[in-house]
Amino acid sequence: MAVEQTFSIIKPDATRRNLTGKINAKFEEAGLRIVAQKRIQMTKQQAEKFYEVHAARPFYGDLVSFMTSGPVVVQVLEGENAVARNREIMGATNPANADAGTIRKEFAESIEANSVHGSDSLENAKIEIAYFFAGTEIVG
Ligand code: UDP
Repeated sequence: MAVEQTFSIIKPDATRRNLTGKINAKFEEAGLRIVAQKRIQMTKQQAEKFYEVHAARPFYGDLVSFMTSGPVVVQVLEGENAVARNREIMGATNPANADAGTIRKEFAESIEANSVHGSDSLENAKIEIAYFFAGTEIVG
């Protein structure tokens, strides 16, 4: 297994409920290192472009509104097999289907307000990291 970096977002439903530390503990307990992190207010334009792949889906407009409804914490997580490992820790998109112990099972409010984003491939991780971070902001 290779050491990888993946991109993560702690979403507005989680920052609103002061869950940043509890979610970060899940990553760290699973062996992922937080090698970059910042709290930002995403603009409508940033959220639209980030979720462009879903532009034709019925939930797109609501998703953009949700992601801009409050602060988010954008992060780079590093570790063995980090992309797949983070998807395991996050759990299924719909918290109703998420396994026990996952972030979404424990914290998500709904299929939309599901507390975290995580890249779904190494290729997308690279694109998403570069969208939010300069190389100098990532310190492994
Ligand atoms: N989403 C939603 N309704 C849906 C499916 C997805 O609001 O029916 C939102 C949800 O916040 C999800 C995001 O859109 O995390 C991106 O969807 P994707 O299918 O890529 O899920 P993920 O990779 O985040 O598990």
